[in-house]
Amino acid sequence: MDLSRLSTDPYWWDAAPPEEARDPLPERADVLIVGSGYCGLSAATELARNGTDAIVLDADALGAGASTRSGGMVSSGQKMVMTGAVRGKARERVSDLLADSVESFAYIENLIAQEKLDAGYRKSGRFFAAYVPKHYDRLRRQGELLREMTGVTVHDIPRSAQRSVIGSDFYHGGIVVDEYGGLHPGLYNRSLRDLARRSGARLYSHAPVRDIARDGSGFRVVTGRGIVRAREVVVATNGYTGKATPRLRRRIVPVYSYQIATEPLPAELLREINPGQRMISDSQRELYYTRPSPDGTRVLFGSRPSFIEMNEAAAARVLSRKLVEVWPKLAPFRITHSWRGKVAMTFDKVAHMGTDEGIHFAVGCNGNGVALMTYLGHQTALRLLGRANRTCAFDVPDFPTEPYYAGRPWFLPIVSGWYHFRDWMDRAQA
Ligand SMILES: Cc1cc2nc3c(=O)[nH]c(=O)nc-3n(C[C@H](O)[C@H](O)[C@H](O)COP(=O)(O)OP(=O)(O)OC[C@H]3O[C@@H](n4cnc5c(N)ncnc54)[C@H](O)[C@@H]3O)c2cc1C
Repeated sequence: MDLSRLSTDPYWWDAAPPEEARDPLPERADVLIVGSGYCGLSAATELARNGTDAIVLDADALGAGASTRSGGMVSSGQKMVMTGAVRGKARERVSDLLADSVESFAYIENLIAQEKLDAGYRKSGRFFAAYVPKHYDRLRRQGELLREMTGVTVHDIPRSAQRSVIGSDFYHGGIVVDEYGGLHPGLYNRSLRDLARRSGARLYSHAPVRDIARDGSGFRVVTGRGIVRAREVVVATNGYTGKATPRLRRRIVPVYSYQIATEPLPAELLREINPGQRMISDSQRELYYTRPSPDGTRVLFGSRPSFIEMNEAAAARVLSRKLVEVWPKLAPFRITHSWRGKVAMTFDKVAHMGTDEGIHFAVGCNGNGVALMTYLGHQTALRLLGRANRTCAFDVPDFPTEPYYAGRPWFLPIVSGWYHFRDWMDRAQA
């Protein structure tokens, strides 16, 4: 593929770039929220709507974190089943986690519809593809579990019928889940910023929070642009969690995920390669995920191209080769964008919200945060306002870390190398 004129900004930023908001910071606020992704903005909206003076601070431009870099796939909780996050957990706990995940899907769909958010959302369904033949049965079992525990509609797609959902012979069948959507992450983040402001919240960019300390009954927050005192603090920094919150940092493993976008493609070719215009991912450990752009003109494709970190240009070379493995007909076309962003993994593969040493937080999307982190931001606000009528299943503030881990994932190349090797072995043995 032609990589000669590559932008290393996310494709989404063409339509909705992150925003500068450099007004002077206030000296005080009721609630100071750290992070202007889906989670922070969602919390700010609910708080402000209920008369709370809420401010959002971001170290970077507003929305510059994962929330304008994501694939924009809107999940109803399947990923926890597909990635094995539910393995080893009691059935009741799994049921609660999945119930709140399904709720997060309903929540984001309602939010977009009720607030008429310009988010490029479409309920598209998702094809989970078997990377090797033995994964097909596993996917069917997982589909069965999802059907039973969450009531979603799951279709088994044997390889013989695969061309009805993907114009490729690369995979070995799979399942389609109907309760799944896709949106434009840049537009969605911008709409959430507008909504938070309409609700009365104030947003500030380029205001890195450096220290959060107790100050009487509230907090004294040191930022790169001065000191702010707040009654409460909400941390919504997910994969970008840093030194200001060392206890959270020890519990989060930031992992880069990479994506590329093709140039606009002929409509007929797009119809052939993805007839239902669905979200698609596969069953590799270092999975491929792909989707059409919301305007239906391009293919976006993501993965972790290597066990080591790469820059965007190097990642584009690897990802474009993988894209052509799936769809050889894309070889003559150009890649226009290649970008990356940080996902927050946790050692127990589940997101967490709660309060730690008086600081509220919601973090740890594990790669599944468009719906979930929006929802957990909302839940965090409800909790803070004393308006939650039940405890969210993700409200488990005590979550694991590992010895010798302080936030720099030195072990990642080893783990990722092992995953890449096992994916390669699976294919070699198939
Ligand atoms: C490449 C990629 C693809 C993805 N694809 C999908 C997908 O298809 N579907 C899905 O559901 N999820 C996906 N995700 C995950 C999803 O994007 C995230 O879960 C979600 O955006 C997290 O939102 P958030 O608000 O919690 O955090 P973020 O959007 O990451 O926001 C955190 C913010 O905190 C700010 N910050 C950090 N530290 C400080 C500080 N000290 N002071 C001030 N500000 C600070 C950062 O600058 C950042 O803007 C993807 C992620 C990536 C990176």
